Amino acid sequence: MKSLWIDTEKDILKNSKKLEGIVESDVCIIGGGITGISTGYYLSKSGKRVVILEREKIGTKTTGNTTGKVTSQHGLFYKYLIDDYGKDYAEEYYNANQEAIENISNIIKEENIECDFERQSAYVFTKSKEELSKIKDEVTAVKEIGGEAKFIENIEIPIKNVLGAIEFPNQAQFNVMKYLKGLTKIIIENKGQIYEKSKVCSIKNENNGYRVYTENGRNYKSQIRSYCNTLSNNKYSRILFLKNVSREIIYNRNRNKSQII
Ligand SMILES: Cc1cc2nc3c(=O)[nH]c(=O)nc-3n(C[C@H](O)[C@H](O)[C@H](O)COP(=O)(O)OP(=O)(O)OC[C@H]3O[C@@H](n4cnc5c(N)ncnc54)[C@H](O)[C@@H]3O)c2cc1C
Repeated sequence: MKSLWIDTEKDILKNSKKLEGIVESDVCIIGGGITGISTGYYLSKSGKRVVILEREKIGTKTTGNTTGKVTSQHGLFYKYLIDDYGKDYAEEYYNANQEAIENISNIIKEENIECDFERQSAYVFTKSKEELSKIKDEVTAVKEIGGEAKFIENIEIPIKNVLGAIEFPNQAQFNVMKYLKGLTKIIIENKGQIYEKSKVCSIKNENNGYRVYTENGRNYKSQIRSYCNTLSNNKYSRILFLKNVSREIIYNRNRNKSQII
């Protein structure tokens, strides 16, 4: 399926380049989706020398193909969280999501990023009588953790026979590729370097840091030496931030403390 976002912003980087040779950085971020680019934005603003390596083109994997909603609502999720993980946990998740919406909104304002950001309500609706009770239970669950949600019978979308919906007010939507374009501009202004078509093939731990190798024909010629603690939380891609903060809290909790930076 074609993505509207990618269609409107095909080339985020004006001068796209592949990593060649050896580059040094404080932090090497692998993956140029919203997670990697947001991390790069924060770190480059804090004065770190950032290098971002993207296998394809910035934003064109999951991020550019999302709905573009910026919400705390993810299907009917909070009753499940309370039942399976407890009230405190669900509340922490909800608050992290709400905070993430505000973070994005503040970045857009502060950096003047033109990305069609709009406040909107988010809905999950049903046409089935049997599912109405699930929607009502979800409203109760969200209220129980101090969240804002309400049950409504009619929603303003052209879909027939809707019997009920849960509304989360004051959520948002945006053009995520335009947003990434704005962030990459700032990273580059902060002396960050972003490389596309640069797939990371291996990472080696050396004396004082890490050496990250990208694919370059058959040889792993291009290298990045990254002399600081790596921020990466798994083998290759996906350093966390923003929307992913909440997911990471859950993910990391079972293992040890959250690793949010
Ligand atoms: C259909 C769908 C719709 C969604 N809609 C929404 C939504 O509306 N709102 C929302 O908040 N969330 C949504 N999500 C959740 C979404 O996954 C995240 O919000 C977010 O887009 C994920 O971003 P990411 O940067 O972690 O991943 P990605 O955008 O996938 O970025 C990871 C990047 O890493 C690169 N990469 C991978 N391996 C390597 C390597 N070895 N070397 C170099 N680069 C590498 C990839 O090419 C990719 O560009 C949706 C998910 C799906 C599947």
